[in-house]
Amino acid sequence: MNSLSLWKRTHMETDYSLKERNTFHFNIHAAAYSEISHPEMIREFIPQTPGEFAPILILGEGSNLLFRDDYQGHIIRSTDTSIEVISERGDDVLIRVASGVKWDDFVKFAVDNGYGGIENLSWIPGTIGACPVQNIGAYGVEVKDKIEYVEGLYLDTGEVFHLEKASCLFGYRDSIFKHELRGRVFISHVTFRLSSNPSYHLDYGVLKTRVESKGAINLSTIRESVIEIRKEKLPDPEDIGNAGSFFKNPVIPETHLSLIQQDYPEIPFYELEDGYKIPTAWLIDTAGWKGYRQADAGVHANQALVLVNYGNAEPSEILDLAENICRDIKHKFGIELEMEVTIV
Ligand SMILES: Cc1cc2nc3c(=O)[nH]c(=O)nc-3n(C[C@H](O)[C@H](O)[C@H](O)COP(=O)(O)OP(=O)(O)OC[C@H]3O[C@@H](n4cnc5c(N)ncnc54)[C@H](O)[C@@H]3O)c2cc1C
Repeated sequence: MNSLSLWKRTHMETDYSLKERNTFHFNIHAAAYSEISHPEMIREFIPQTPGEFAPILILGEGSNLLFRDDYQGHIIRSTDTSIEVISERGDDVLIRVASGVKWDDFVKFAVDNGYGGIENLSWIPGTIGACPVQNIGAYGVEVKDKIEYVEGLYLDTGEVFHLEKASCLFGYRDSIFKHELRGRVFISHVTFRLSSNPSYHLDYGVLKTRVESKGAINLSTIRESVIEIRKEKLPDPEDIGNAGSFFKNPVIPETHLSLIQQDYPEIPFYELEDGYKIPTAWLIDTAGWKGYRQADAGVHANQALVLVNYGNAEPSEILDLAENICRDIKHKFGIELEMEVTIV
């Protein structure tokens, strides 16, 4: 029996176009596609016998993925958009948010209700379910600092899990969901600890200046400023297909930095506990790739970290471009770039 015919209750579409479900807008298809509005519905997709069902990929907005090709398994999206304030004590508030909520809708909810902590993360595309996967971050704030716990179900057994922040092994654009639990779980809810008396993070010069120009420093003006700056800096995937930063910023030891400084004394860096973080955008720009375009695959003209599909690029063309950039950066600076985007 065809394994895909075993689904009984949840509506499933076959040969489903993912063009509007990935922000590169690649014209690719999934063998099967379903939406679930309640976490328990995921159990319908758990095989009784190993190998019985097609592989599963949980999809959010497809803003951090690059599909190499048509997906030969089952894509599942959560449409659960509940937001529940579960406790409020003094300044402290705990909010449990379902995975189908758009990340920025939650930021807006928090700001509108006077709950601070995530305003710097305004306007990041994607869903709540994906935010712990790569520990989203921007303007000096990472979501890990506001996550209390993550809940969901294992895709192989249907068992529920509840992972406290410490067990999520969060790192820079990293977590357990990119390693040990990669592809093994459905994240149903993320619970956040926010504050009605927050301290603001305005250490990024450009953000501070923009907020100050608004005459008042509060959650709304910070959110407004972040959105303005992001709209100026980043290409909108609705206009040009992209998945935001394609590469992570590498961290290198002091000896390596000193070596590069002999040829490039102007190299920017941020000192960390374990080395020096180098902006990949500077490396790509200095290596001469910014604005490069071959057919419809390119490096954005204003944002060297962002690889773009100008219309009809194939996933392989973006991947080839990414690999050529990696080789060149390795050759010129001795640095191995790591992709931030998940390749499927
Ligand atoms: C223009 C642009 C700007 C961006 N700016 C930033 C930025 O400033 N900072 C930043 O950190 N990121 C940024 N990103 C990347 C992206 O927005 C984030 O990684 C976001 O969290 C991805 O969410 P998504 O719903 O689109 O996830 P998807 O791309 O759909 O999925 C990403 C991964 O998460 C998994 N996943 C998704 N939902 C679930 C779930 N419910 N359960 C289990 N696994 C799940 C998927 O299987 C996949 O492995 C940007 C992207 C774009 C296009």
